[in-house]
Amino acid sequence: MGADNSKIYVTKPYLPALEEFIPYLEDIWAEKWLTNNGKYHQQLELELCKYFGVSHVSLFSNGTLALITALQALRISGEVITTPFSFVATTHSLWWNNIKPVFVDIEPNTFNLDAEKIEEAITPKTTAIMPVHVYGNPANVEKIQVIADNYGLKVIYDAAHAFGVKLSGKSILNFGDMSILSFHATKVYTTFEGGAIISKDEATKKRIDYLKNFGFAGETTIVAPGINAKMNEFQAALGLLQLKHAETAIAKRKEAAAKYRAALSSIDAIELLKESPNVEHSYSYFPITINSEKCGKTRDEVYNILKENNIFTRRYFYPLISNIPIYRGLESAAKGNLPIANAVAEKILCLPIYSDIGDNVDRVIDALTNAIYK
Ligand SMILES: *Cc1c(COP(=O)(O)O)cnc(C)c1O
Repeated sequence: MGADNSKIYVTKPYLPALEEFIPYLEDIWAEKWLTNNGKYHQQLELELCKYFGVSHVSLFSNGTLALITALQALRISGEVITTPFSFVATTHSLWWNNIKPVFVDIEPNTFNLDAEKIEEAITPKTTAIMPVHVYGNPANVEKIQVIADNYGLKVIYDAAHAFGVKLSGKSILNFGDMSILSFHATKVYTTFEGGAIISKDEATKKRIDYLKNFGFAGETTIVAPGINAKMNEFQAALGLLQLKHAETAIAKRKEAAAKYRAALSSIDAIELLKESPNVEHSYSYFPITINSEKCGKTRDEVYNILKENNIFTRRYFYPLISNIPIYRGLESAAKGNLPIANAVAEKILCLPIYSDIGDNVDRVIDALTNAIYK
């Protein structure tokens, strides 16, 4: 028997047994209510509120439309301070609202927006801050709120990586004016495609819900130029089922992360992000950075060696948003303004992690160790 050389992807969804989903499907088929605030949609909003310990959740067809709608709901305009070290949808959501992104550099230890550098980027046109909890590591929520309060700015968190993450026992989704989740197939918790906005009060939730449904506030009353960003019943039913398994899915990821940590922390050429004792993680990613001076190989060489071994890591987030052609002309996108983000984008590598990864972690560790030392 030859060694296992099957493909290992960076992520894989954790789906329960199909039989568990059949009753939901039978019910949808019997009721013939497929979308538009159906019963599974209503139930999932309530259950997610309970799960997160938040008061208001609005479901969306995907995370990007949730980001775009959050900015609309808060009537954000002018300039918004954000991070270049994220998935492109963060900045794209500003562009779709005709808002100018202003990039601020990241912290060297968390790769999150550096709160110490926010104030110098504020201008009279600044209306909001849009940080990201990168890899589910909480942004500096307290400092960011102090700045926002001092300057009268809104705070919208892109929390796409932060499902199930808690800071000092409290869901990270409680911070800021709004938080946005993605339930895309690649995330910790999935509805195939999907997303949500967490908001703070009933009036705001209502506005969000009008906006995601063409602006309809009643059968014949249209209060805003809304969009269609509704989650359908199929997605919501899957969400309810997935929620029953969320804790198990996260616990299994935690085991995989612990195994990586134990094996990789002694390798000089690899740096791991520090874990904070106040944070309960959901291990949405397992990022490492490659120190090329110490291992004599670039990150891309390591990435390619792993690929030859059928191990598909991802260079999240490379290229940096500020370096892609659409945004690189912005003043704040200059490399000199973002030295840390530019350096991290060159050395970051996200290793495969998912609930059912099992012994494949060992294969990744072996291949990575060989790539570093040989
Ligand atoms: C996945 C992701 C999004 C987009 O979510 P979709 O549901 O795929 O539209 C936005 N921001 C970040 C940081 C993400 O990782």
